[in-house]
Amino acid sequence: MEIRYELTKNPKQKPADESKLGFAKQFSDHMFVMDYTEGEGWHDARIVPYQSFSIDPATVVLHYAQEIFEGLKAYRTADNKIQLFRPECNGARMNDSADRLCIPNIPVEDFVQAVKALVEVDKDWVPHIDGSSYYIRPFIFANDVGLGVHASKHYIFCIIGAPSGAYYAEGIDPVRIYVEDDYIRAAPGLTGFTKCGGNYAASIKAGEMAERQGYAQVLWLDGVEKKYVEEVGSMNIMFKIDGKIYTAACTGTVLPGVTRRSIIELCRDWGYEVIEGKLAIADVMKAAQEGKLEEVWGTGTAAVVSPVKELKWKDQVAYISDGKIGALTQKLYDTLTGIQWGKLPDEKGWITPVCEG
Ligand SMILES: *Cc1c(COP(=O)(O)O)cnc(C)c1O
Repeated sequence: MEIRYELTKNPKQKPADESKLGFAKQFSDHMFVMDYTEGEGWHDARIVPYQSFSIDPATVVLHYAQEIFEGLKAYRTADNKIQLFRPECNGARMNDSADRLCIPNIPVEDFVQAVKALVEVDKDWVPHIDGSSYYIRPFIFANDVGLGVHASKHYIFCIIGAPSGAYYAEGIDPVRIYVEDDYIRAAPGLTGFTKCGGNYAASIKAGEMAERQGYAQVLWLDGVEKKYVEEVGSMNIMFKIDGKIYTAACTGTVLPGVTRRSIIELCRDWGYEVIEGKLAIADVMKAAQEGKLEEVWGTGTAAVVSPVKELKWKDQVAYISDGKIGALTQKLYDTLTGIQWGKLPDEKGWITPVCEG
């Protein structure tokens, strides 16, 4: 893929204090853009100054939400190299999302090339302080004009990026989770396995209600029986019960997280039995009562792992690990972040170098 460069003449002021970055609040100088037109395919790949889109009010995405996205990070290592973690997994997953929403695929190598091109051109925006990263947001939206419901003939693929602070700037803090028993996030045949904006739009209400009651996130149950655990907000979730690790299988209703699959691989390497399948919330609560619910953690690119200290389901509450991060959760966090920031050797081949910092 050939990429055209139009570099900014007015570089923005970079954040002065990297300890106050927060998550994706300010975006870097450039963005990657590529257009799709039916018949012509993807064309005009370019790096241009970060700027607004001009969108007709009747653009398909604004009405029917034909849109997908991805999320990954670029990391600055101690010896000042910039690198990515398994970006080809994000490229492949974006195509799985694309297929479900009738959006044209992008070859995985073009996806990775585009991400690398943006990171390299804005490498000075990859922050330096411990635990910080440059959050990368690729997305595709339908750009036809007209209110008929059909697959669009025009799309825009764009990648933007934002320097982001350490997720655990104040130390790893285990969270309280509300098990949602009313609303659902996904059901067989729907879009649960895709990263589409519509999934998030439909989940905001439950998240807000849980937050008002003091819970960090919602744990979704399966959409048919509301019986089996699926995932949490924007994370997959894992349970260590009596020495074994349980997580929902990726059979269409759960987002196949890159962090999830990496953690499953590590756990199996370390000799743990990992069961991908149905786990009833009632059995989780029962395990807690019997003292067998050893650790619970969410997994996702933003936090890597997020330890859970409390689960509330109907009128039952499970307390986990005395409110502290469990030993395995900590080991997973140390190992994955170690590989991502280049503090541990990349024995798995998970790292894609981008450039010198
Ligand atoms: C992105 C996402 C995840 C986590 O995926 P990672 O690739 O590990 O970041 C989990 N669940 C949902 C709903 C997501 O959108």
